[in-house]
Amino acid sequence: MKAPAFDYVKPHSLAEVFPLLQQYGDEARLLAGGQTLLATLNMRLSEPSVLVDLSAITELRGLTLAGAMLRIGAMVTHSEIEASALVAQHAPLLPLAAPHIAHRAIRNLGTLGGSIAYADPAAEWPTCLLALDGVVVAKSATGERRIRADDFFVDLYTTTLLPGEIIVACEFPVASANHWCDFDELARRHGDYAIVGLAGAGQRSENTLAQVRLVFLGLGATPLRALQAEGVVKSQPLTASLINQAVAALKNELSAVGDLTSDAATKMHLAGVLLKRMLMKQMQSKNA
Ligand SMILES: Cc1cc2nc3c(=O)[nH]c(=O)nc-3n(C[C@H](O)[C@H](O)[C@H](O)COP(=O)(O)OP(=O)(O)OC[C@H]3O[C@@H](n4cnc5c(N)ncnc54)[C@H](O)[C@@H]3O)c2cc1C
Repeated sequence: MKAPAFDYVKPHSLAEVFPLLQQYGDEARLLAGGQTLLATLNMRLSEPSVLVDLSAITELRGLTLAGAMLRIGAMVTHSEIEASALVAQHAPLLPLAAPHIAHRAIRNLGTLGGSIAYADPAAEWPTCLLALDGVVVAKSATGERRIRADDFFVDLYTTTLLPGEIIVACEFPVASANHWCDFDELARRHGDYAIVGLAGAGQRSENTLAQVRLVFLGLGATPLRALQAEGVVKSQPLTASLINQAVAALKNELSAVGDLTSDAATKMHLAGVLLKRMLMKQMQSKNA
């Protein structure tokens, strides 16, 4: 199918974007890498009357250290994140997750902001943002808002971004000396959206995860934190028995939503496998 007819504008600054959003309202769509939007237009799942191309806005680009936060512009691509030495040093979870996003051609065009705004529950960046306790920086004609990831993803493809707001950047707390993180996912083929994935991050002291955030993708309508499992392992020396308790807690607290390829029971089983693997890896690496 072909996309419906639409107008196209390419502003060169954020100041030019906001009047367009006010003028067109719901009829406007922001175009970032186009890796999701163009497919939905071609399938006629969405029929905006104007696309506002963000690619010429330099304010949406760049990776910088801002105090204790690593700031990544909304138009930074998946590939740029994957290759950045600054990201590897200060938010090492992101380059662990990046290779799991689709294929190179898509990673070269797809952007952080587009992925966070689209809020696919099987996407890697929303899950990492939540695991790292990151922040979405949104701007509108009336000012800037900083939204914690915990408050941003509210339902399937639904966020707390308001009409007229645009994501300008995401900020990630800079990894401390005792930072730990890991990412793993299970997909039918490399490059497919994952069936289930897990991002873990926090702080580690000896054989103990002093801080821990465990976030699953692909289980529900949003990325999901496993709060009970986090509670089981937090501040306790990691042992095989503790890890089994964490897996039991996970199965008690979260329930998966099945999809066309995997039923809910399969997803929960795989989530347990991923959690056990990740925690065993932490236990073994600390004891080595
Ligand atoms: C074959 C295929 C496989 C894929 N597999 C994966 C995968 O395994 N994992 C994964 O995470 N993703 C996957 N994707 C999606 C890909 O990562 C996209 O790049 C991403 O979802 C959207 O980013 P984009 O920059 O292309 O956004 P676009 O497609 O341009 O926009 C997506 C949505 O976000 C809105 N938007 C864009 N930028 C902003 C902004 N700054 N502020 C507010 N709203 C904004 C747009 O209006 C639109 O509604 C896949 C895509 C394809 C085509």
